[in-house]
Amino acid sequence: MIPPPGASPPRLLRIAVPSPLRRAFDYLPAEDPRAPALPLPGTRVRVPFGRGSRVGVVLEQVDHTDVPRQRLKPITSAIDETPILDTHTLSFLRWASDYFHHPVGEVVLGALPAALRAGKPLPASGETRWRLTPAGQRLDGERLRRAPRQAAVRELLAGQPGGVTRSELADLEGDWRGAVAKMAARGWVEAFEESVGVQKFAPDESLGVQKSWPAPNEEQQEAIDAVWGARGEFRSFVLDGVTGSGKTEVYLSVIARTVAEGRQAMVLIPEIGLTPQIVARLRERLSLPMAVLHSGLSDGERLRAWAAARDGSAAVVVGTRSAVFTPLARPGLFVIDEEHDGSFKQQDGFRYSARDLAIVRARQCGVPVLLGSATPSLESLNNIAGGRHEGLRLSRRAEGALVPTVEVLDLRGQPFEEGISQKLANAIEHCLGEGEQVLLFVNRRGYAPILICHACGWQADCARCDAHMVYHRASGRLRCHHCAAERGVPDACPECADPDLRALGLGTQRVVDALRERFPDARIDRVDRDSTRRKGALQGVLDAIHAGETNILVGTQMLAKGHHFPNVTLVGILDADGGLFGADFRAAERMAQLLVQVAGRAGRGQRPGRVLIQTHHPDHPLLRVLVREGYRHFGEAALSERRQAALPPFSCLALLRAEAPQRERAMAFLEDARARAQQFVDTHESVHVQALGPVPAPMERRAGRFRGQLLLQSDERAPLHGLLSPWLEELETLKSGRRVRWSLDVDPQEML
Ligand SMILES: [Zn+2]
Ligand SMILES: [Zn+2]
Repeated sequence: MIPPPGASPPRLLRIAVPSPLRRAFDYLPAEDPRAPALPLPGTRVRVPFGRGSRVGVVLEQVDHTDVPRQRLKPITSAIDETPILDTHTLSFLRWASDYFHHPVGEVVLGALPAALRAGKPLPASGETRWRLTPAGQRLDGERLRRAPRQAAVRELLAGQPGGVTRSELADLEGDWRGAVAKMAARGWVEAFEESVGVQKFAPDESLGVQKSWPAPNEEQQEAIDAVWGARGEFRSFVLDGVTGSGKTEVYLSVIARTVAEGRQAMVLIPEIGLTPQIVARLRERLSLPMAVLHSGLSDGERLRAWAAARDGSAAVVVGTRSAVFTPLARPGLFVIDEEHDGSFKQQDGFRYSARDLAIVRARQCGVPVLLGSATPSLESLNNIAGGRHEGLRLSRRAEGALVPTVEVLDLRGQPFEEGISQKLANAIEHCLGEGEQVLLFVNRRGYAPILICHACGWQADCARCDAHMVYHRASGRLRCHHCAAERGVPDACPECADPDLRALGLGTQRVVDALRERFPDARIDRVDRDSTRRKGALQGVLDAIHAGETNILVGTQMLAKGHHFPNVTLVGILDADGGLFGADFRAAERMAQLLVQVAGRAGRGQRPGRVLIQTHHPDHPLLRVLVREGYRHFGEAALSERRQAALPPFSCLALLRAEAPQRERAMAFLEDARARAQQFVDTHESVHVQALGPVPAPMERRAGRFRGQLLLQSDERAPLHGLLSPWLEELETLKSGRRVRWSLDVDPQEML
């Protein structure tokens, strides 16, 4: 289509198309002259791409492109008549793509449910109804004599002044859609959205004044007033509340008020499977239309929940990290529960932090955001100190529950059997005698993390990873927890043929076995990824403990995620040492959060709790601060260590990872990448970025591939991000990168 001389060239469409390339693609409008006006940003279109065809989303209409005219192709067709993504959501997605340097096509299309990604139509929200217009009511029946389907539609609508839904229309014979479309074009019928859900809510019904709502205590009321006072503007709050202090009550109250004003609230939670009670509580206390988004949904369920959030019929949208990308018709509030939790960071593919993105989104929407945690991340604590977040505190446990006492058990030189010291064993025995429940935390599942030959020292290692195989006694297998490799246990040492193979170290299974021998009358249950794989298994264990049937519960960090165990009065942490000396600079922070969260499960009822922490390093300074002065002081101490080491949040990091079957190949690519970064730094005086490495990853080999990494560090965000875009463009063209799998992680949470 060559425009006549003098005519202005047609506008172009800049389109997000799923592809590993970090850019959008320009297209000409459709060639079909009957095609409606140029599709607006946010509209899905079908485009020719490579040798095939793909579904993309229009980002913007532009007048200029760097692509030569003759290479531009027209789009095939527009899929939506009106944009499926509003401009707010679209610009938020583009921001996320820019910031985390992930291809915009994958980010934008990834935000759509599978059916929409595949080009299927957006289903009607179920609330769209059709009715006759005044012209349609006056219509002389004779005019439809030769259009029996239209006559049938008219007859149906004439008897229904409130309108009919699509499914009622679908009961008509034949092509009712075509008939309705023709009648709509003539102005005889019209579609309208019936107001449901949020709009129907009278403020006094949902303001939280019903008698069944517990009255907030003074601190809760202050927190509620602060967040509610910020409605309609961006402000970020950190609700720092000890476990059991009633953070959820604060969320519920602010959500109820937000919804009563006709706005939607989005609540992000770490893992729905592990914390079903927050969803249950929202449902029970706010009888509002709710959309719940998590990985366990079927495609159809996800699509319906997504559509309900988008069209505003869901008042509350609850979900795990990816829910942050869901469009909202009338956003009013964002809540991030357990904001410190690592699961808000996606660790592969599009590596984003849902916590950080929710804050950005709240800012773009001009609404408040509330981050809650009993153990705020060091980033959040630092943001409170710097005045970027407003700190709110709940220091009292609700209903007068008592704060547990925390004691460190020095394991050095103590009798110690299967991971349990005599002191801990005595405490367990006492508890069981009183009819109270015990919770024991072990940081590894399986039976034992190491199988070693007592004669020669041979260890069962994974052939494909730099890791030991974990011994699972119940199944009699060795398993690698990094690549899922599995094999049988040898009868004798493969090196020296000695049969004396010993299991070293502690896993949950082994602790359970040992406890069963020691406390044969107690019911002992286990909660870890192995024991809860079966659907409903976790719920079964939780039910048993709530019913008082379980005496001792042994589990991994899954236990730290928000469960309430009111009759647990003793919590034992079998080994706190792993976190104190982890390879990752966040190890101590995670260990502290875990200890406090697990400890918070004790004594939530009227009985005081006791927490015993076993360690070989009772004098570790951070552990001492944590136990003696609490999490806040631990945070200050840990932050000052980070400041001295120029680590986040006092610097910004981006980690380039590369892996290949051959070590040299991964390292050669990283060397090239380092040289390019250095070149950029040398030629741009204002860019203060350090390239550290490349070095092998802490676990150098995983699933048969060698892994290396290059760290970019800067005191400030802007220069780092100024470097990343042009640098990545260069990396995409590097020859050494061709047979290397590589990825960039902005603000990495793990260095492994
Ligand atoms: Zn041996
Ligand atoms: Zn492995």
